[in-house]
Amino acid sequence: MSSIELGEWDVLIAGGSVAGSAAAAALSGLGLRVLIVEPDPDPGRRLAGELIHPPGIDGLLELGLIHDDVPQGSVVNGFAIFPFNDGEGAPATLLPYGEIHGRQRCGRVIEHTLLKSHLLETVRGFERVSVWLGARVTGMEHEDGKGYVATVTHEGTETRMEVRLIIGADGPMSQLRKMVGISHETQRYSGMIGLEVEDTHLPNPGYGNIFLNPAGVSYAYGIGGGRARVMFEVLKGADSKESIRDHLRLFPAPFRGDIEAVLAQGKPLAAANYCIVPEASVKANVALVGDARGCCHPLTASGITAAVKDAFVMRDALQATGLNFEAALKRYSVQCGRLQLTRRTLAEELREAFLAQTPEAELLSQCIFSYWRNSPKGRQASMALLSTLDSSIFSLASQYTLVGLQAFRLLPQWLGAKMGGDWFRGVAQLVSKSLKFQQDALNQALRAK
Ligand SMILES: Cc1cc2nc3c(=O)[nH]c(=O)nc-3n(C[C@H](O)[C@H](O)[C@H](O)COP(=O)(O)OP(=O)(O)OC[C@H]3O[C@@H](n4cnc5c(N)ncnc54)[C@H](O)[C@@H]3O)c2cc1C
Repeated sequence: MSSIELGEWDVLIAGGSVAGSAAAAALSGLGLRVLIVEPDPDPGRRLAGELIHPPGIDGLLELGLIHDDVPQGSVVNGFAIFPFNDGEGAPATLLPYGEIHGRQRCGRVIEHTLLKSHLLETVRGFERVSVWLGARVTGMEHEDGKGYVATVTHEGTETRMEVRLIIGADGPMSQLRKMVGISHETQRYSGMIGLEVEDTHLPNPGYGNIFLNPAGVSYAYGIGGGRARVMFEVLKGADSKESIRDHLRLFPAPFRGDIEAVLAQGKPLAAANYCIVPEASVKANVALVGDARGCCHPLTASGITAAVKDAFVMRDALQATGLNFEAALKRYSVQCGRLQLTRRTLAEELREAFLAQTPEAELLSQCIFSYWRNSPKGRQASMALLSTLDSSIFSLASQYTLVGLQAFRLLPQWLGAKMGGDWFRGVAQLVSKSLKFQQDALNQALRAK
């Protein structure tokens, strides 16, 4: 075992995927020397995030991790959402980023493995950034006066790293988080099955298509090079073949045929969807970023954008405190907690509204679509929240109230279907949830003070 004393690097980052690369780029910009350790020398194919909202793209551009003139992936202009009850052939509700006040930029879709390797390759070329591939953090020990000291295992050698800041960017199942004793709540929602097909018959090219179905959520979007990604959610305990059949019913015919042909040929990729809420994002000289700091259902496709934002929050906190690491980590913890609460609450509420089989959920789902169809301002505000451009829980609370008001527009329809009682119960639930969000927002503001 060899030991590297404080002096060689200021920051050690466990994980060289989106969150790790973004954090390294942001912190090296402050003059800090950063070492990334990444176990995976060859990332291989993996089913994970690809759609990046405009704030994430803006962030990656600002960090110098992507460039405007590099034609990578494909442009995405927003979401196209297919509600379950509209039936086959009904058009999608479009939610374009372009409606958000003052936004010009689009999002992008970049195939996950390509994205991960591009970011790591780019950041390793930065001054003050080193990358050890095939290395991992294998131990974390607390020492008085030093905080945590990490053990990194690389090419059979264990090295103790004494650095000012250790960042856990090692994903949803973060080992680093476990090693420092930060506990977390986990909920495994479902699995995801994904494949690539030709994009010739992709509906709404240039949009992230989302198909809503009691069997789960499915997605289809272009990834560039004439290809499209399709993903199907498989709920806990459900049969994957049956689920895929249920999902495919909502896909337009020629595209459905393309997917069936690919499914018949080979084994698709698979992933799990979790909601993970760690009890803290900071402990001593350790900070968690990206999915290690918490993740939610991928319905809002905001994990990558949130990981990029973490890097900026960390950078700004260090800058604002004049590189006082202790004070900066406190700031980081408060700010990223705010972002994450809004993101997670939004994903959970939408998921419940779209998938739960109760009259209350059905009313909420109808209210959401009515809001989107009838209110351009509502679409703008929703897209600002979905894309994380607006991450205020106050905004989410007020949007929820405005969505709830749509129930009155829907009342004649529910009375006509002799579902007046369900309507009243649904409205009561909407009001009580809306009050709860207002209370969450207030608590958060008080905690921040
Ligand atoms: C099916 C699915 C679809 C999704 N779709 C979207 C989407 O469209 N848009 C979006 O924004 N988000 C999406 N997400 C979420 C997105 O994939 C994640 O938010 C994002 O990948 C998080 O990046 P990360 O860097 O935090 O973690 P990861 O990408 O999980 O990377 C963690 C890294 O840490 C490394 N590591 C592990 N252990 C150690 C260790 N001990 N020491 C050092 N390194 C270690 C791993 O090798 C890996 O490289 C999706 C997720 C899923 C599951």
